Order: sequence, then C-alpha cells, then structure tokens
Amino acid sequence: MTVGISELVERTLESVKKEDEKLREELPEVWKSFTTSEKIILKVIKDHFIPVVRETLKKGEEIEVKNFFTIKRQKTKVKGNKRCDKHEKAVESYNKANKGKGIEGYAGSPIWRKLMAETRSCNSCKSKKKQMKDAAKLTTRISFKPSPNFWIITKKKAATKPRPVRSR
Ligand SMILES: [Zn+2]
Repeated sequence: MTVGISELVERTLESVKKEDEKLREELPEVWKSFTTSEKIILKVIKDHFIPVVRETLKKGEEIEVKNFFTIKRQKTKVKGNKRCDKHEKAVESYNKANKGKGIEGYAGSPIWRKLMAETRSCNSCKSKKKQMKDAAKLTTRISFKPSPNFWIITKKKAATKPRPVRSR
C-alpha cells in the first residue's frame, strides 16, 4: 500500500486533534487549541517542508532526525588503497606470509596489531584516507536508514523515554 501526501496530512491532523483533545481534558484552564486546517498543513508540508528536504539533499547535506532516520546521498566508490605506500606494502607482505591462517593470524597476532596501530597514527595514511574520501562524488541515489531504536519506539510509543543510541 502506498500512502500519499494527502493521506499523511489527514493522519497528521488526526494525531494533532487527539493530543489537542487530551490537553483540553487534562488542562482545561490553560488549554488553547492548536488544531489548524488541513489546507494549511498540506500547504506547509507539500509546498515547503518536502521541497526543503529536497534542497537540503541537493546541497549534499545529510538529514538526521534523531530516533527516526537518516537520509543521505550515496557516494561513488573510489578505487585505490586507504593506506600510504609504505604501510600498504607492509600489510600486503603480512597477508602473503600469513595466508590461510584465518582470523588467528590477525586478531591474535601482536605483529599485526602493532602494524594496525602504526597505520592509525601515521600521517601519510591519514592524508591518503582523506584523499580517498574527498575523491568520492555524491550520486543521485539516496540511502534511508532508520535509527537503531526506530522500530522499538514506534511499537511501544515510548517517545518520552528514548533508548540510548548506539554509535556505529
Ligand atoms: Zn602510513
């Protein structure tokens, strides 16, 4: 099923009215209706909000709505190594020497761990990595990712107590 903008607005309006009603019952002395016409909401969303989303993405900016989702333009993949020549060679020769050893040859190896620590603090590796990142171009494809607690919150309606967001 596809939901269009008019249906979304109708549902939004329903949700607003519900909260409005609830507030009127709970706090009648301070209640002031904030319901507005469907026409106004439709105009704001269709003619302003959605075009603003598009302009933001066109500029190459990412949109992150906490606890909901992230929308961003995808980037082209850049061919090449992420390490400087010296460390790329070191990694290659380590790989050759430890072929077929599996994960133990890496995670359990002090030599490998030392090499990885070295590349992380190496300035040439850092600038190479940045170079690769800068060479990536924005495409017209878009990725839409729900937040880690997106489904949990929707199900429980626990908007008042969001779970801590895990960093990726
Ligand atoms: Zn390096």
